[in-house]
Amino acid sequence: CGIVGYIGMRDAKEVLLEGLARLEYRGYDSAGVAFLDNENNLYVEKQVGKISVLRNAVFRRFHNKCFSLGIGHTRWATHGGVTQENAHPHVSASGRIALVHNGIIENYMALKQYLVKEGYHFVSETDTEVLVHLIEDFYKREGNRNLQSAVMEALKLVEGTYGIAVISVDEPYKIVAARNGSPLVIGIGEKEMFVASDVNALLAYTRHVIYLEDKELVVLKSERYKAYDLDYQRIDKEVVKVEWDI
Ligand code: GLU
Repeated sequence: CGIVGYIGMRDAKEVLLEGLARLEYRGYDSAGVAFLDNENNLYVEKQVGKISVLRNAVFRRFHNKCFSLGIGHTRWATHGGVTQENAHPHVSASGRIALVHNGIIENYMALKQYLVKEGYHFVSETDTEVLVHLIEDFYKREGNRNLQSAVMEALKLVEGTYGIAVISVDEPYKIVAARNGSPLVIGIGEKEMFVASDVNALLAYTRHVIYLEDKELVVLKSERYKAYDLDYQRIDKEVVKVEWDI
C-alpha cells in the first residue's frame, strides 16, 4: 500500500517512520522497515497494526543505532493473511536482500513453482515474496553485474503491478526502485535521496521530485540518481518542483 525509502545523512529511522505516518490515511493493516548499518548488517522490524506500534518497537530496539539507509512499507494485504510474517519488508534466503512491494504479482504461482524447484524456501503467504527470491536468483547467477541488473532481469519475468524498493548488504550505498501500475516518486535532497509511493511522505524533506512511469527503474545513491528502462537504457527524467502544501 505505502512505500518510503531513504539514503543520506539523516537517521533513516526518523525519516521512514515519519514518512509512513504520512501515508497512514491511505489505510493499511501492518507495517515494517529494513535498515542497513555502517557494518552492513541488515535489520528488519515488522508489526501488525498501527505505525505507532512499529515506531515504539523500532526506537526501543535501535535506540543507540543510527542508520543512513532504509526502506519501509505499510501493507494492505491482498495475498496472505494479516500477520507479521506476511508484512513487508521481505528478505531473501541468504538474508542479504530486502524488498518492499505495492501491488499484485499476477503470475506469482508460476514463479513460486520455479523457485521452490530451485530450492527456495518461502516463509510468507504473499505474492510479494517471489520477487525477493527471484532477484536473489539472478543476483547469484554467473555474469550478473549488480543489484540493478538482478532487479531488471527479475522484473522482466513478472506480470502484474508493482512499486518496489530493494536494498542489499552487498551494495549498501544504494536503493533500487521500480514501478509498473503502482505509483512511485523520487525525492531529491542535498546529498540525500528519498523514494515514496506518495509525494505526501516526502514534502517535509524536499520539494524536488521525479515521478516514475511504468517499467522505469531508478538507482538512488545519496548524491545522485539514474533512471533506466528495463533494457538498461538511460532515461532523462524531469525534476518537478512541488509548490503546494500538505
Ligand atoms: N500483494 C502484496 C501483499 O499482499 C502487497 C499489498 C500492498 O500493496 O500493500 O503483501
